[in-house]
Amino acid sequence: MIKAVFFDLDDTLLWDQKSIKEAFVATCKIAEERYGVDPIRLEEEVREAARNLYSSYETYDFTQMIGINPFEGLWGNFLDDQDDFRKMKEIVPAYRKDAWTAGLKAMGIDDPEFGYELAERFPQERQNLPFVYEETFETLDKLKENYRLLLLTNGSPDLQNTKLSITPELVPYFEKIVISGDFGKGKPDQGIFEHALSLMSLDKDEVIMVGDNLMTDVLGANRAGIKTVWINRHDKDRNEVIPTYEIQHLEQLFPILEELK
Ligand SMILES: [Mg+2]
Repeated sequence: MIKAVFFDLDDTLLWDQKSIKEAFVATCKIAEERYGVDPIRLEEEVREAARNLYSSYETYDFTQMIGINPFEGLWGNFLDDQDDFRKMKEIVPAYRKDAWTAGLKAMGIDDPEFGYELAERFPQERQNLPFVYEETFETLDKLKENYRLLLLTNGSPDLQNTKLSITPELVPYFEKIVISGDFGKGKPDQGIFEHALSLMSLDKDEVIMVGDNLMTDVLGANRAGIKTVWINRHDKDRNEVIPTYEIQHLEQLFPILEELK
C-alpha cells in the first residue's frame, strides 16, 4: 500500500534545463549585440568550457557525490555552512568569469572584462526565468488528497532553497524536503533514501520515487528497494537501470497509483 510519493525536483517538477537554456539565450544575446557573434555557438562554447573547468577543480568529486552540475555552478552562490561548499563559494566567481571568457575566446573575442559582465548577467537571467511544468501543480494538488509527499533533491541547500524561493508555491505540498548537501551524500546513494524513509516513518514498500534521472533517482531507489517511476519526457533511451514504471507526463502517475492500491 503506497502512502507517500517521493519527488525529485529538477526536471521532474521544475523545468531546470529550460531555465538554464533560456538564461544562456538571454545572456548570449548580449554578446551578439556587442560583437555580432552567433549566440548558439557561443552557448555551446561556454557550456564546453564550463564542463572542462568544473571537472578540473578540487571540488569536483564533492560536486559529483552531492549532485551539482557545471551549469548550477554558473549561477549558484553556495552559501552553505560546510567546508566543501565554502571552497565552492571561493571558486565559483573565477569559474564563471573564466568559462564565459573562454567561450568568447573560442569565438575569436579576447575580452575578459566582457566575459566577467556576461558571467554576472547569467545568474540574474537564471533567477528571472524559472519554469515549472504545466502539469506540476495540478498533479500535486490531486496527489496531496491521498498521499504524503516528500521532496528528495540533489544539490547545495543554498541553491536548491533559492530555486524553491523563486517558485514558493511548491514548498507547502511537501511534508519534508531532503537536500543531499544537508545529508552529506546524494542520490544514488542508498543512504539518502533510507534517511527519507525514516523521516516519514515509512517502510520501503509504502513509498514510490518519481524522477527524471535513471542514474540517480531510479538507481538509488532501486538500491533501497523502493518502487520507481521514471519520467521520460524527451523519449530518451533506457540504459541498464530498470525503473518499475516509465511515464512521459506526470498525470500518468494516477493509473499507476490506482493499480498499486
Ligand atoms: Mg532531476
